[in-house]
Amino acid sequence: MSRAKGKTKSQPAGTTREPAPRPLQTNTGSTDEAKRILAVLDELDTAYGNDGMPPGALSTGEPLDGLILTLLSQNTNDRNRDMAYDALRGRYPAWEDVAALTPAEIAALIRPAGLGDTKSVRMKAILEQIRSDFGGYSLSPLKDLAPDDVRRYLSNLPGIGPKTVACVMVFDLDMPAFPVDTHVARVSRRLGWVAERTSPERIQEFLESSVPPERCAGGHLNMIEHGRSVCGARRPKCGSCVVEGMCERVGVSGD
Ligand code: SF4
Repeated sequence: MSRAKGKTKSQPAGTTREPAPRPLQTNTGSTDEAKRILAVLDELDTAYGNDGMPPGALSTGEPLDGLILTLLSQNTNDRNRDMAYDALRGRYPAWEDVAALTPAEIAALIRPAGLGDTKSVRMKAILEQIRSDFGGYSLSPLKDLAPDDVRRYLSNLPGIGPKTVACVMVFDLDMPAFPVDTHVARVSRRLGWVAERTSPERIQEFLESSVPPERCAGGHLNMIEHGRSVCGARRPKCGSCVVEGMCERVGVSGD
């Protein structure tokens, strides 16, 4: 799950808590480990260049659009997500019209994204909840809330997990959050920032406490590009990796 570059203006832990990732002096850059993380992010930005992206560049300006787009991105790729979103919004540009559809009607439109039956039911429930809470189909009121309150609200919407919450916060609300998809998780583990079995949720907590707010959006996008193009799950290209010298698992053959 990501907010891919192409989509402009147009993602409970178990009962057993994992050990926390190694503590890191956060947001200050004052420890060697914090400096090491920032050094990696610097190199990745030199390679992929997403840090300079203006705030809101991947948003329509309406956080509800971003929330639904991210909901559609669950368990599919960016292309299929976009096909589903465009089919839905192309036919029903107003969210109130989407809310009036049956789950089956929504599922038919968003079929390219997969899991239509599940996503359509969640979408309707989310729209109903938002109308009930805000009197209309907009999440713009969240722009006036504190980040912790925004995170709490979004986390309580039906079927919305920490990754989706973070996507909406960082891309649509310009609030500090670091979404962790499969690429960000893999690269974080291989670099040795967290232990091998650390869950995406714990990695997200770690990154959000380690990376300065202004580096979150670009850092997330750069890590995804790196995971896709160089540090793939199978046969990572360590020999051509820009952070080879800062990686604990350089030379790994794959997951
Ligand atoms: S050195 Fe290899 S394992 Fe480490 S980040 Fe680069 S590609 Fe991934």
